[in-house]
Amino acid sequence: MLRTLFVTTALPYANGSFHIGHIMEYIQADIWVRNLRMAGHTVHFVGADDTHGAPVMLKAESEGLTPQQLVARYAAERPTYLNGFNIEFDFWHSTDSPENVELSQDIYRGLRDAGLIETRQVEQFFDPVKGMFLPDRYIKGECPKCHARDQYGDACEVCSAVYAPTDLIEPYSSLTGAKPVMKSSEHFFFKLSDPRCVSFLQKWTTGKNCHGAPRLQAEVLAKTREWLGDGQSEANLGDWDISRDAPYFGIEIPDAPGKYFYVWLDAPVGYLASLKAYCQARGLDYDAITDPEGETEQVHFIGKDIVYFHALFWPATLKFSGRKTPDQLNVHGFITVSGEKMSKSRGTGISPLRYLELGLNPEWLRYYIAAKLNSRVEDIDFNPDDFVARVNSDLIGKYVNIASRAANFISKHFNGQLHYAGDRAVLEDNWRTIAQGVANDIESREYGRAIREIMGQADQINQAFDAAQPWVLAKSMADASDEQREALQDICSCAIAGFKALSVMLTPILPALTDRVAHELFGLHRSFVWADAAVLPDHIAPFKHLMQRVDAVLLSQLFDAPEALEATAAPKGSADSSQASSEGQAVDLPGGEAIAPTITIDDFAKIDLRIAKIVACERVEGSKKLLRLTLDVGEPNMRQVFSGIQSAYQPEDLVGKHTVMVANLAPRKMKFGMSEGMVLAAGHADEKANPGIYVLEPMPGAVPGMRVR
Ligand SMILES: [Zn+2]
Repeated sequence: MLRTLFVTTALPYANGSFHIGHIMEYIQADIWVRNLRMAGHTVHFVGADDTHGAPVMLKAESEGLTPQQLVARYAAERPTYLNGFNIEFDFWHSTDSPENVELSQDIYRGLRDAGLIETRQVEQFFDPVKGMFLPDRYIKGECPKCHARDQYGDACEVCSAVYAPTDLIEPYSSLTGAKPVMKSSEHFFFKLSDPRCVSFLQKWTTGKNCHGAPRLQAEVLAKTREWLGDGQSEANLGDWDISRDAPYFGIEIPDAPGKYFYVWLDAPVGYLASLKAYCQARGLDYDAITDPEGETEQVHFIGKDIVYFHALFWPATLKFSGRKTPDQLNVHGFITVSGEKMSKSRGTGISPLRYLELGLNPEWLRYYIAAKLNSRVEDIDFNPDDFVARVNSDLIGKYVNIASRAANFISKHFNGQLHYAGDRAVLEDNWRTIAQGVANDIESREYGRAIREIMGQADQINQAFDAAQPWVLAKSMADASDEQREALQDICSCAIAGFKALSVMLTPILPALTDRVAHELFGLHRSFVWADAAVLPDHIAPFKHLMQRVDAVLLSQLFDAPEALEATAAPKGSADSSQASSEGQAVDLPGGEAIAPTITIDDFAKIDLRIAKIVACERVEGSKKLLRLTLDVGEPNMRQVFSGIQSAYQPEDLVGKHTVMVANLAPRKMKFGMSEGMVLAAGHADEKANPGIYVLEPMPGAVPGMRVR
């Protein structure tokens, strides 16, 4: 039976570019959606930018932009990433849209009519200078427990204590430095603790979807039981504060002037807003797709950090506003890089944009990520050596290899014609069964298992091919018997039929590569669908080169710090400097680039600059740019730092000198080893026109370990 599905990924917050974690989630969902479409099912696959809330508002303000302008800037980047990694959403929208305003307000009215909204007075810190209530993250002060200074309002980063902002000693606003005052305000709450909600959620979380599969993964269900109780323990649910006071970038609460929905109320509604705008654009029936009694399956791909919002608030707000509830949550873990955890604040180990700019094949990443993913909520690790091995030995060495070997014999001796000595129906049944198994694995998000199966089949095809020694048969083709000719044609035909079936199975994962296989080798003027796996080909075009091997040196550049960051402290390519040069004004700017956007003292305090003594320095074999510095920063162990200053200094001239380093920069794995910080150096933005790099040196008297502030 053909199905209709509505599929989303988590909406990215519009205060930054995509990082590798976003791309992983999109690849996971895109593979899943393509798999269903190949079976003929209808899938509506939509995304949107999550735009509202204090962080976007304040970031825009600090850059002299309106929130809409800031959001538009990130929205403009999205297609580069999505198209770059062959991720095919049907539609991309924004939570700052008329559809979302209407839907969010409608849902709220529904909840209010159901008696699930109430108001309460809430006392909260207020910044008297800024004239706004402060989110916890914007309040800092001394930790009440360990007395560490400059800790956030919700938790101490030094002793990990968790507390309320009112517990902080000498609190201050990180926006203005002002001492916040307590102020009372009316807040709107969604009564999640209402027995109707609890009882609905207990049913929903333990329920099954229309295919009889659990709606939630086991780990996710276990997590929800901590909140909902498990029949023995009591539910432990607080009501949910859904309002924020002006000034706030968000959607106004109906009949409540100056009150806005907290961003997490309207963010998931953005799924529906995007679907609605998409339906309008395509002439589809939105009401039918979202009909609670309808047949459409609603599936959300999300990360493990937002389960609370998607397994409790989202189904409850939908249910009690009379809407369809989700059929399935597909929750994934995080991606680490060489075992190191990624962090939003520190930036990420791998920049997806840099990946594309380096010309690395996007389908290598799709393949590698797929090979690592399973249906559980586990973190996966990006390891460069593993990446090279999987792509080169599996994808190229096993899969592509089949076609390059077998097709050459067929082109040379049989004019591209395939012929099977055995029973075609047996071959067809074999590939149909295997392909069905792979399709099922992908549907259950066991991508790693699917790839192991595909590569296991590739091994078998290669082994059978080798065992038959077709090159021996081919040697004497001029005076070969009919039996010999038939044997050679059969061996190669079976291998090519296998290659075609494997190509079909790889289509959700490698859509661009397999499209080339379909068009160029098998003359198909469309993408593969599942049914193609069991159709034996009768002809193959001469083999063309299909895919490059990964160049490990090129891949290593993905992990190098950008050159500008290595050589100078001023980041090149910041929005300001690139804008300046594109307008041809670079000459007039100090040092060739505009002064970067204003930051607060807190932003600066995050950078821990220390005096370092250069105790050793040497050239790096294989690099024309880098010097390897051994630095004493007053710690028990020396630090190793690679710096792009080889053109400016002889190593021996630097030994014994003091300099300034960024001591809390996340270590970066480079081709030549770990770089554990960055040495500060000055230089002109246009290095070619104004060469020269100057390492900073403190005035005499500074000793290793002293902080620079
Ligand atoms: Zn503390």
